[in-house]
Amino acid sequence: MAVLPIRIYPDPVLRVKCPEVERFDDALRGLAADMVETMHAAPGVGLAASQVGIETRLAVVDLSVGKDPEQLVVLVNPEVLEAAGRATDVEGCLSIPEISDKVERAQRIRLRASDLEGRSFELDAEDWLARAILHEIDHLDGVLFVDHLRGLRRERVRRQLRRLAESREGVPA
Ligand SMILES: [Zn+2]
Repeated sequence: MAVLPIRIYPDPVLRVKCPEVERFDDALRGLAADMVETMHAAPGVGLAASQVGIETRLAVVDLSVGKDPEQLVVLVNPEVLEAAGRATDVEGCLSIPEISDKVERAQRIRLRASDLEGRSFELDAEDWLARAILHEIDHLDGVLFVDHLRGLRRERVRRQLRRLAESREGVPA
């Protein structure tokens, strides 16, 4: 297993709508293991494959950040079946360092995804788990949490993103 470099805004890979996983092979399982290690090392509670430069619909979420193996969720080709309620809370992103803001999302979701062997399963999630999963599914569609902001929050974050982009100029992706 290896800790992979995390792609930082404005890296264009963060805007890619990732294609579905079609081969459930050792390469996929190796990538998932590396992503879990990368997420825990960051530390963070979620990571999408595009954040490590791989354009494929694979994401990992672990609200315990490695403390409780039962909380690790690995999602291949995830799809939201139902969403209900609204909740607002502060989010950040490993690809957008030092920027966080309040984002409104569904409070609970039902999800269908595949595991690393290609077996389909459904999952109910609410509150922080729902939020983390929706954040990662957004990544697989090239959407960032800052895209959900409106009004003054959007203006403020736009300035912060410009500064972040300027600070990244000349940094190899
Ligand atoms: Zn993120």
